[in-house]
Amino acid sequence: KAKFKLRDVEVFYGENRAIKNISLDIARNEVIAFIGPSGCGKSTFLRCLNRMNDSIDSCRVTGSLMLDDIDIYDPKRDVVELRARVGMVFQKPNPFPKSIYENVAYGPRIHGLANRKADLDEIVENSLRKAGLWDEVKDRLDATATGMSGGQQQRLCIARAIAVSPEVVLMDEPCSALDPIATAKVEELIAELSESYTIVIVTHSMQQAARVSHRTAYFHLGNLVEVNETSKVFTSP
Ligand code: ADP
Ligand code: ADP
Repeated sequence: KAKFKLRDVEVFYGENRAIKNISLDIARNEVIAFIGPSGCGKSTFLRCLNRMNDSIDSCRVTGSLMLDDIDIYDPKRDVVELRARVGMVFQKPNPFPKSIYENVAYGPRIHGLANRKADLDEIVENSLRKAGLWDEVKDRLDATATGMSGGQQQRLCIARAIAVSPEVVLMDEPCSALDPIATAKVEELIAELSESYTIVIVTHSMQQAARVSHRTAYFHLGNLVEVNETSKVFTSP
């Protein structure tokens, strides 16, 4: 059964139709990459999956967008709860200017996932372990996150996203601001995370799509022109 069922989705910024009648299912625990030239709508479509475009006044989304059996655009739906289920990692690492611990503890605390300090400590440790950061930061959890390297900051943002036990993690060019070694670490992490989460990743890099994804969706001028198993997209005819 599909995690997302998206039907006849259109997205407008004012008069500009940035997404043109796209229908797509995304399976549970798959890694699907959105690729295509700059401005083709990858990021716009990604942001529909957790209503991240709600804050843009000119933006209007039509069609049917279902996450399991919930209507993502139901106006009565609480977006905070939706975004805990569908987490997001951005191009530029954006940790809070707080301690490493606080970055990860924040979400579980506001969602009431831990009643005792020991439970919160455990969630923080597990999330940092899953993000491959625990050994690097366990002795300096009180240090400010913004003092970390870019790659560490991005893995911290991944830890922050998974700390609230989401089902889906959206990643919008998560490696574009990282050097090759940090990129390789994040790609390795994506492979591990795919065992537990559905991952949708926007990338401008076909090589990255080929390395990390099971399926690739190719966008052009707001259309979804091809979606196929990644191994088939990247084999020559
Ligand atoms: P990318 O191609 O990496 O998605 P862009 O440079 O297209 O990045 O967009 C960066 C930011 O600018 C995004 O937040 C996007 O929503 C916003 N943006 C892009 N195009 C426009 C536009 N025509 N008018 C207003 N904001 C825009
Ligand atoms: P991509 O992620 O593939 O680079 P985007 O989704 O950022 O593409 O942009 C798709 C189209 O939507 C572009 O024409 C862009 O200018 C427009 N767009 C993106 N964000 C905004 C925004 N905040 N306001 C107005 N137009 C936007």
